[in-house]
Formats: sequence, structure tokens, C-alpha cells
Amino acid sequence: MSKHDTPMLDELENGPWPSFISGIKRLRDDHPDQRINSVANSLLGQLEHSYETRKGYWKGGTVSVFGYGAGIIPRFSEVADAFPESKEFHTLRVQPPAGNHYTTDTLRKLADSWEKHGSGLVTFHGQTGNIMFIGTTTDGTQGFFNEINEYGFDLGGAGPDVRTSISCIGAARCEQSCLDEQNIQRTVINNFTDDVHRPALPYKFKFKVSGCGNDCQNAIERSDFAIIGTWRDDMRVDQIRFKEYVEIKGRDYLNENVISRCPTNALKINDDDTLQVDNRNCVRCMHCLNVMPKALSPGLDKGATICIGGKRTLKIGDLMGTVIVPFMPLKTEEDLEKLNEMAEEVIDFWAENALEHERCGEMIERIGLSNFLEGIGIEVDPNMVDSPRQSSYVRMDEWDEEARKWFDRQAEGA
Ligand code: SF4
Repeated sequence: MSKHDTPMLDELENGPWPSFISGIKRLRDDHPDQRINSVANSLLGQLEHSYETRKGYWKGGTVSVFGYGAGIIPRFSEVADAFPESKEFHTLRVQPPAGNHYTTDTLRKLADSWEKHGSGLVTFHGQTGNIMFIGTTTDGTQGFFNEINEYGFDLGGAGPDVRTSISCIGAARCEQSCLDEQNIQRTVINNFTDDVHRPALPYKFKFKVSGCGNDCQNAIERSDFAIIGTWRDDMRVDQIRFKEYVEIKGRDYLNENVISRCPTNALKINDDDTLQVDNRNCVRCMHCLNVMPKALSPGLDKGATICIGGKRTLKIGDLMGTVIVPFMPLKTEEDLEKLNEMAEEVIDFWAENALEHERCGEMIERIGLSNFLEGIGIEVDPNMVDSPRQSSYVRMDEWDEEARKWFDRQAEGA
């Protein structure tokens, strides 16, 4: 095998960060399988060529495994004559286990299967949450899928369908968790498995589950249907532990770094070094709980806030999800059934009313929140937005006066 020269790619190995180029070079130089060596060499050659000419040479197409319409991102090379070993370089998106819990044995199995059927390149995990198995031929896709399906893995979403879902590590390791994140994710994604495999929606639709307001999965920003843990009673305060924080850190430090940073001024240190919390005004931002995890914990009446319409760019720029259900208990089977029913309503309404390539949040912007709520059968309720003054949707303070001024201005102009 004659190695392609890669002077431009070599530059990417400089600097303090690990480089994906070094990873591909390891596959080219150190892997015992010659097929993988040549695929990696060919890939590096094409990439260098792209850098030289400032053009990408991958084109899409249609590749799927039997019975599926989604889950594979096809990539065919336009410069296959020059770099034949990587002329087909499809990516398989695989749904990870909830909370990304793997045994080392499972990781080894996945790696072995991929080295058998693909290039050996894997991303744990892509931005979508998937395990991305990068680089195989059309023939390789079916063999790899059959093998991993045998030991319990399934393809995730790609294209206009329900996408791969993710949840934070949650209750397994985090004291702030307010949900059984893994069970919720599993319940929802199992309910929509058909919609993951068959691309029949206007565009992508994502579920993400975060166990608390820290939102480690960026659910409010990155998912159409964000399930975020919260509590509705009072947060728990261990006053003895709080006094220890005062002793060790000092009142000034706590005033500066915790009390004054509460967005709603809901905290106060009493003269006897105990903490007073105005729970009605706490917006569950998680700041004080994060800084003093030994003294403060979420309340006991836990559930989820459902935010709909979050997304990254495209038609109208980034959107955060809007609070549609401020609090939903998610403990029992019936609770989870209600969650599924609500999700079905949302997806059905969106599928019927969205324009092509329009995310749910974009549709809500276009048709208005009240129409959306009516469409999914949820009553408008001011509690849907915890801080009306900060919301562009529900503004109730001095609304009548403002409206009057607007009508007066219209009348003057007429
Ligand atoms: Fe204030 Fe946030 Fe703590 Fe609530 S969670 S008391 S809003 S800092």
C-alpha cells in the first residue's frame, strides 16, 4: 500500500487537542487488518484532496437495510477513481442505551463488529446522541446491522423521522435527578419505533430527557419535545450542612456567589446562619443546588416540565422550547401513558400542519402558540410560563393599558 501524502492534514495534528487525523492514521498504520489500513489510507487521501481543492466530494443517495427507511447516511465518493477503497463510506446511526450505560463487554462487541463490517471509525456519540459508525460499503451495512441487532442494538433516526433520543445519566449517578430518565426515554422511544425507522414526517422530531434544570442533554435547546425534571414542593434544606458551608466559605462568599446570583432573589441568609428560601419565587434554575449540593436538594414532589419546539438553526434561527406543561408527574405506568398520548397528539398535529422541512417550533411560530395548544387539546394556562414578564408569548402585566395605547395610536393615524 502506498500511503497518500497528507501535508495539510498533518497540520491538524498540531496543538494541544487530540486530532481525528491521528486516529485515522492509527487505523492506517497500526491496525492488523489490511482492508482497514487501505480504507483509512484512501479516506486520508480524499480528505487531503478536499483540503487542496476546497471542495467536498461526498454525495448522498439511498441506502437502507431490509425493512428500514432510515438510520443510514449514505456517502458515495465523487473521486472514487483516485481513492477507490473508500468509494462508499456510509454512516450507520445506532440508538445508544438510555443514559449511555454500556458494559465494557458491549463496547468491545460493537468495536469488533464494526471492524469486521466497516472502517473501524466510531463516534461516541454524535450531536444527535447516536453512536455513529462511520464508513462502510452498501453490502457492509446489512451485515453489520444483522450482527448488532442480534445482541440488542437498533438503528436510530436519520432524515424526516423521529430521531434517536437521549437521556442524561440521571438517577444512576446524579443527586439532582428528579426523574427515572432511562425509563422515560425507553418508554417514549419504544412507542415511536416505527416513526424512527420510517421517514414519513415533515422533518426531524427529537425527544430528549434531562433529569433536572441543569439540562445536561441540552433538551430545551436541541429537542422538539424536551422532558426536563423538576419539583413542585419546597426544595429540601439541610440547615446543619448549610451552617457548615457558612463556616467554611464565609457569609461574604456565599452572599456573593450564591445569594446574589439567584435570578429571583429567593434566598436569604438569616442572622443565625440558616438559609431562608422563598420557594414560591424559586424558578428551579439549579444554581444554589449546584453550588451547595450537600445542603440543598430538589423537593420530594418530583416530575417533569415539558417544553416543545426547541431546535438549532435553519429557517428562523435557534429556538428554545416553550413550556407547554409546567409539571407532569412521571412515576406510574399511567403517567407514562399520558406522556406518550401527549407526544402522539403533538406529532400528529405537527405532521398534518407543518410545511415541508419545518420543525415543530417553526410551525408554532408560524401558526401561533394558541392555535398549537388548541390543536393538541391543551388548555391555555398562565402557569405554562413560569416567568410571564420574561416571555414573549404571555405578557399580562399592564397588557390592557398597552393595548389601549396601541388602539389610540391607530385611531390618531387613521
Ligand atoms: Fe434561586 Fe435558582 Fe436556587 Fe431557585 S434554584 S432558589 S431560582 S438560585
